[in-house]
Amino acid sequence: MRLQTRTIHVGVDKDTAYNSVITPIYQTSTFRFTDVGVNAGYDYTRAGNPTRRALEENIASLEGGAGAVATATGMAAITTVLHLFKPGDHIVCTHDCYGGTYRLLHLYEEQFGLRLSFVNLQDQAALEAAFRPETKAVWIETPSNPLLNILDIREVARVAHGCGATAVVDNTFLSPANQRPFELGADVVVHSTTKYLNGHSDVVGGAIVAKDAGTVERLQFLANTLGQGASPFDCWLVLRGVKTLVPRMHLHEKNAAAVARFLSGHPGVRKVYYPGLATHPNHAVARRQQSGFGGMVSFEVAGGLADVHRVMRSVKVFALAESLGGVESLLEHPVSMSHASMDPALRDQAGINENLLRLSVGLEDVDDLVDDLDAALRA
Ligand SMILES: *Cc1c(COP(=O)(O)O)cnc(C)c1O
Repeated sequence: MRLQTRTIHVGVDKDTAYNSVITPIYQTSTFRFTDVGVNAGYDYTRAGNPTRRALEENIASLEGGAGAVATATGMAAITTVLHLFKPGDHIVCTHDCYGGTYRLLHLYEEQFGLRLSFVNLQDQAALEAAFRPETKAVWIETPSNPLLNILDIREVARVAHGCGATAVVDNTFLSPANQRPFELGADVVVHSTTKYLNGHSDVVGGAIVAKDAGTVERLQFLANTLGQGASPFDCWLVLRGVKTLVPRMHLHEKNAAAVARFLSGHPGVRKVYYPGLATHPNHAVARRQQSGFGGMVSFEVAGGLADVHRVMRSVKVFALAESLGGVESLLEHPVSMSHASMDPALRDQAGINENLLRLSVGLEDVDDLVDDLDAALRA
């Protein structure tokens, strides 16, 4: 089956009692044993639940992995992956990773002895110089947040494998509808399902997918041990959301491309970041490794901070809010919102300045989105 068919059908036939077409919500903490040592495949929801299993089968199929673990949040997914490593292990992380990932990695460095290097992985020399004998993983996020830099997954994974390290890809920004990291050499994929996979801004959730069955088994063990699993109801909501992933991603991209084109010609805008624009520095890599450019657009407002604040206060269709990937359009200011906890020096080095705004372009009529931004920029 093709990906769009799999979003709708994989993992969902769980009700053998009544053959419901939609996966039931098995909202139960525990499961009755039928005899001593005999149950129907589940004993306790922290360890496993049929609704969660349906979502895990679905996401594993979309990414093309051996299996998946559905977690309570994206950060729970990342936390679980970090438990594959031991004190003294070294992780090379892209220097413009998600702010929460950055904060978590620092916590594990300070309290649990992980060693870290934050590196511009677009720089071939820096990439190759970053690996040490104790390097166990490289953490890839592409497109990056909020500047939408593109990393060449195949190239980074090749260098990592040459040094015996695992390649982990955070695929939240594109979803498997637009990017399939396993086909490019990744070993582990993580998601915040909060974003495009669920797509309706009504759940926080996460997922981990691994290429090989041994890693899936280890991740299942870790998620159960750490208590990271997603609730049955949240899994059910994500299963519902994922059915429309492919058409949603098409429309996100169509709207984002139109917004990016509009902003590129606007006198109130200094710079536009969208990998689908031919002027984007990584446009060629994006074309090669992605099957779509996604729904995220960032731009710099011309003028000073007061002008930026005016745009933030003036939008009416775009909501001033963090997060992304939902059907409704959102606008946020990385320096004061999503990236406020990031070390200012690193933030500057990454190119995230106070004029920058990030848009999650939703599925409204694109003319309303363009009119809203135009009015806010002229306010
Ligand atoms: C949102 C996000 C996360 C964290 O996910 P939560 O569901 O908020 O815990 C991790 N990585 C990326 C790229 C994200 O956008």
